[in-house]
Amino acid sequence: MNAHDYIEEVLEKVRTKNRGEDEFIAATTEVLHSLTPVIEKHPKYMEHNILERIIEPDRQIIFSVPWVDDSGKVRVNRGFRVQFSSAIGPYKGGLRYHPSVNLSIIKFLGFEQIFKNSLTGLPIGGGKGGSDFDPKGKSEMEVMRFCQSFMTELYRHIGEDIDVPAGDIGVGGREIGYMYGQYRKIMGSSEPGVLTGKGIVYGGSLGRPEATGFGLVYFVKEILEHRGIKMNGKTAVVSGSGNVALFAIEKLAEFGVKTVACSDSNGYIYDENGVDLEVLRQIKDVERKRISEYPSRTGRGEYREGSRNIWDVKCDIVLPCATQNEINKDEAIKIADNGVILVGEGANMPSTLEAQDVYRERKVLFAPAKAANAGGVAVSALEMSQNSMRMYWEKNEVDNMLKGIMKRIYENASKMAEEYGDKDNLVMGANIAGFVKVADAMVYQGI
Ligand code: GLU
Repeated sequence: MNAHDYIEEVLEKVRTKNRGEDEFIAATTEVLHSLTPVIEKHPKYMEHNILERIIEPDRQIIFSVPWVDDSGKVRVNRGFRVQFSSAIGPYKGGLRYHPSVNLSIIKFLGFEQIFKNSLTGLPIGGGKGGSDFDPKGKSEMEVMRFCQSFMTELYRHIGEDIDVPAGDIGVGGREIGYMYGQYRKIMGSSEPGVLTGKGIVYGGSLGRPEATGFGLVYFVKEILEHRGIKMNGKTAVVSGSGNVALFAIEKLAEFGVKTVACSDSNGYIYDENGVDLEVLRQIKDVERKRISEYPSRTGRGEYREGSRNIWDVKCDIVLPCATQNEINKDEAIKIADNGVILVGEGANMPSTLEAQDVYRERKVLFAPAKAANAGGVAVSALEMSQNSMRMYWEKNEVDNMLKGIMKRIYENASKMAEEYGDKDNLVMGANIAGFVKVADAMVYQGI
């Protein structure tokens, strides 16, 4: 059988075995198609049936999370942890709390995580979890009770050498703190390496909150510099206003890039002078309010309804940092028509497959998520190292390591893209670079 037929056969199985799981099917289709040249070149991967094995998670855990709201009503949500691959290290990946969470979303994120984590060059496998719980509008105590209940089931499946969860959408330092507190109480021992994204005072790493956003901008800088394009003086549009977006905007500003628009789930703000990051942080991070407050707080800029309309705004650099599938084909066409030079993905799979085709056809530079947003999980792995050593690194040490990691990811992905005949195709380059290490580990370790 040739590589093409093998891949199609495996994808057919993905579709029949995972019916209705659109996000998971899209993610596996993108990755497997881009692996065609490497499967052609190395028959051992087909002989060991690596593709069919890698698309099947090692373990899929679904559990009930009962909790009591402030009015005394008993509520129940669904919890997930998908342990995808531990070929190169303990399962590693975030927990997402969002009403859209279902098995398909967690599986797609877990699958992506295998390759992303491998790309960091650090010894971490792939996993993901979360719940359909919506933290929005919940009180501090409700969030705490939910996190405690979630951990009351999850604790038996994780461990610093087994599976190490972290944050994702809806799970930040606050939630990690409540979950770690519950884990410690249940276990009766201090094992900070079991979760990452912890607070600095109980085992967290300096530079972890910044890592995804900063890493994204370091990666974008590598791409542009290698093509002789300067960042200074450029404009950007950054969707989202969570952790990733806020730190990306901060780093862009440091490199002389003005962010003229950013969004939350209801709408976006446009400020031609560049968004005031301090005000934005106060509204979104401290007060957890709507972005629509921005114009009245600053006396400048305007708020526009409909978060997806943010892609109408003209700029040089687009950083989607909100969620999956936030740029479809038509929106990608708008982006290309607006003369955007580069799209860099801070979120996981924010561009649909059709949107990615548009970037390729219209020669918009593209930094795919699993390479561009790997900085967060990379610093999570550095947090695990510090926990194992029972010591802390300085913030600038962590930041320098992050810079080095993002540079190496770029170099590896572009080397692989060139080796396999499509120099600017970082989607293929990142997928192959991430895949080869995991696939080799699977071959060496036997069936
Ligand atoms: N949720 C982040 C990601 O998508 C970070 C995961 C982690 O730190 O384990 O990569």
